[in-house]
Amino acid sequence: MNQFAKLNINQAAMILGSVARATKNGFIAYDLEGRITHFSPKLEEVTGFLELEILGKPVQDLVKIRDLSIVENPHTVESHVVMLFTKDGKHINIEARCTGVLDEDNKLNGYLMFLIIEDFKKDLNRAQSEFISTVSHELRTPITSIKGFAATLLNAKQQIDEEKKTKYIRIIKEQAERLSRLVEDLLAVSRLESRKLQLTIHPVQIRYVLENVIEVVGSKHKYSHDVSILCPESLPDVWVDSDRLEQILTNLIDNAFKYSPEAKSINIEASLQKHNDKDMLEVAITDYGIGIKAEDQRKIFTKFSRLDSPLTRVTEGTGLGLYISYSLAQLLGGDLRVESGNGKTRFLLYLSIKPLQGAELWWD
Ligand code: ADP
Repeated sequence: MNQFAKLNINQAAMILGSVARATKNGFIAYDLEGRITHFSPKLEEVTGFLELEILGKPVQDLVKIRDLSIVENPHTVESHVVMLFTKDGKHINIEARCTGVLDEDNKLNGYLMFLIIEDFKKDLNRAQSEFISTVSHELRTPITSIKGFAATLLNAKQQIDEEKKTKYIRIIKEQAERLSRLVEDLLAVSRLESRKLQLTIHPVQIRYVLENVIEVVGSKHKYSHDVSILCPESLPDVWVDSDRLEQILTNLIDNAFKYSPEAKSINIEASLQKHNDKDMLEVAITDYGIGIKAEDQRKIFTKFSRLDSPLTRVTEGTGLGLYISYSLAQLLGGDLRVESGNGKTRFLLYLSIKPLQGAELWWD
């Protein structure tokens, strides 16, 4: 029997109020119809919504979820990264512990999400100051080399042979491309957060997109990886915005190259799988590189997070790619997960094989 069964409803509500005041974190509870029944005041400062204006509203107004049931077994606790909408029209990804709310007979009564805002706020402050130095560094490196090589070409035109000239011009071009990638990432984040992103959803053959992305990403890297792709002809089309899908896959495959310089292979496998009770197309991208520790696996989907390692320090990046990819996967009605251990890292991208409907089209 549930220990709260011995308390009357007022006592239980008082205890809940005290817990809400005492914890540095926040929680949301909703009933089986998806109406918000509890919204702890700590969430007011994170979302900008007041408790009074959000109680009774559909939970989908506050959190991006596809199904009301957020845990497979309501008696257990599952950790997820959830997308929380804020009053000013933006969204934030935050770590949540999700579980069922049970009544005195142990019957399911609703769901609860316990949101780890303490870590989120710490990470946000740290990430924001790190972001300025990361972006400045990322901007300064290509600008320095563009300026340097352009000056050399201008000042010492006569003394430089044709071969060197071509080399310098190539470097200037590559560095300009690097700058434009950074600006594109920053713009993508800004569009995502201001909800100005336009999606054109249509059926797309996954194999075709994968082959294109592998070719483009592979040609950019100096390491020689064997990229294997297993993608049966019989797989159904995915319903996506093809540019956004390309953006997600480019980031995941690029990371597989970047974070496994010593390894030889990258495996990409597409298959039909059940995910959150739905038939979805799963694209699994596996590398055998530096790996991601269990405690860092949720962090990497948040904005500007780069894990500290000797390799990351010398690898180009802003920590925006996975944040963008995760957010886009959600917008496309899909999901993005990571598994890492025993020398291999696998990103699992889930995509819809049916046109999106109703709540899935929250972006409109
Ligand atoms: P970045 O621009 O730094 O690559 P991402 O958002 O794509 O940004 O990734 C965030 C961080 O996650 C990376 O800086 C890296 O520390 C880690 N990471 C991403 N993909 C992998 C991978 N395949 N293997 C190991 N670490 C990874």
